[in-house]
Amino acid sequence: MERKGILYEGKAKTLYLTDGEDFLVQYFKDDTTAFDGMKKEQLEDKGLINCAISMKIFEFLEKNGVKTHFEKMLSPREMLVKKCEIIPVEVVVRNVAAGSFSRRYGVKEGTPIKEPFLELFYKSDELHDPMVCVNHVFLFGWADRDEIDFMTKEALKINNLLRNFFANIDIVLVDFKLEFGRHNGKVILADEITPDSCRLWDKSTGEVLDKDRFRKDMGNVVESYKEIYGRIMERYGE
Ligand code: ADP
Ligand code: UDP
Repeated sequence: MERKGILYEGKAKTLYLTDGEDFLVQYFKDDTTAFDGMKKEQLEDKGLINCAISMKIFEFLEKNGVKTHFEKMLSPREMLVKKCEIIPVEVVVRNVAAGSFSRRYGVKEGTPIKEPFLELFYKSDELHDPMVCVNHVFLFGWADRDEIDFMTKEALKINNLLRNFFANIDIVLVDFKLEFGRHNGKVILADEITPDSCRLWDKSTGEVLDKDRFRKDMGNVVESYKEIYGRIMERYGE
């Protein structure tokens, strides 16, 4: 499929139009940002590793009945995806307290959350992704009741699947963020699932293996992403 002009250049990925109406090329950059883009660096090979990790996870989810935008790999940094109208609501699922949950509610990082906990955020860099509830979703018309019901159920199902996926490689899935979009009238999982969008801790040592290494200047960011990818390939390879 031929790659045409840029549809959108984001902080970590670029979306290209294709000669097919229904598809986009999603290109994973090495650019790494945090704090609404205030902190920014190029981390060599990050895009490559994230593209590969996201592919393995989307394939795993598809095998388990989750409809995603993933079609196929085009090159090591590029995947063909179904073109979606993104619903501007970030769905976060948490199993262990960390990040903004810990800061907002004064819960020590690492405290287990008794059952998977779902939060919604309005996807807006300008407004710093404010936390919202379903009432905001309806008020602003971001999604209807069926769509948001589907997204929350699907997010919890994905959490169950991914907790196991990572537990099998000695990694704790602490939390993660999902984006959904409309494609041919159906809501499907879009964007990426990578160590940029999840918190992943080594089960035995508690070592942080995700983007918090970048946020907190802990070093070895790409090395940790490679460690995750290595474990995925060892367990779920080709
Ligand atoms: P950001 O927009 O936060 O800077 P990225 O750099 O990851 O983030 O850019 C990717 C953009 O592409 C995101 O805004 C995301 O919502 C959007 N996107 C992801 N998958 C699709 C898709 N299948 N169709 C249309 N847009 C998508
Ligand atoms: N997250 C993300 N994009 C965002 C906000 C959060 O991918 O714009 C992910 C983040 O990496 C973490 C989870 O969602 O895995 C929960 O993030 P949190 O609300 O704790 O925010 P943070 O402290 O990361 O700003």
